[in-house]
Amino acid sequence: SKRGRLDQFIAGTLQISKKAVRGLLITDKVLVDGQLAKSPDLQIDEFSHITCNCVVLRQYQKQYYMLNKPDGVVSATIDDKHPTALGLMTGVNTDMLHIAGRLDLHSTGLLLLTNDAKWSAALMAPEHKVDKQYLVTLANPLQQEYVEAFANGMYFEFEDITTLPAQLALLSSHQARVVLREGKYHQIKRMFGRFRNPVVALHRESVGNILLDNTLLPGEFRALTKAEVDSVI
Ligand code: URA
Repeated sequence: SKRGRLDQFIAGTLQISKKAVRGLLITDKVLVDGQLAKSPDLQIDEFSHITCNCVVLRQYQKQYYMLNKPDGVVSATIDDKHPTALGLMTGVNTDMLHIAGRLDLHSTGLLLLTNDAKWSAALMAPEHKVDKQYLVTLANPLQQEYVEAFANGMYFEFEDITTLPAQLALLSSHQARVVLREGKYHQIKRMFGRFRNPVVALHRESVGNILLDNTLLPGEFRALTKAEVDSVI
């Protein structure tokens, strides 16, 4: 909620201790809506105008976006060879944004961006069991035996890990839907690689309860709704 104690807000915004905040309050440095503020537990909200030493303290706004990532865009803040996901966010202050779960250069679809590190950590931690759903197009025909191999998990020697059980649904001869609860480096490509079947297209459709908005063209983005943000515990 945007309502809270004055001392908490100042401590968080200026990155100082609550004790230091008390020092500011006692020495008449803080004004709330033009009035001297003395009590640390004064309740403020997003409409409060707060100054400290005559400097306006801005409420820290949490930002959450989904982007329909196009092919050939890197999931990064800066890159000297390719356009970046953050570079597509025109009109948005991207200074504090980070990507919650990267996609490879040629992968497309749902990319989540936020400045809320707790939220993205909850989304990405394997123990939270957030499903990521992908539509995958393969170079060669799919085989029924893949389904069991995905469900059993695969051992990756390089990292010495076995992948968590993954769901594979065969949609047509060359298309499948994959649901993962983790995201190891090039995981889907490497899993199909076991069958010498190259991935030709990889599109993320959803992360947990957040579905890619089908009105977003590649390269377009929108802010998440409150329901989408709150769907991540
Ligand atoms: N698995 C991959 O191989 N690439 C991605 O971008 C996502 C999952």
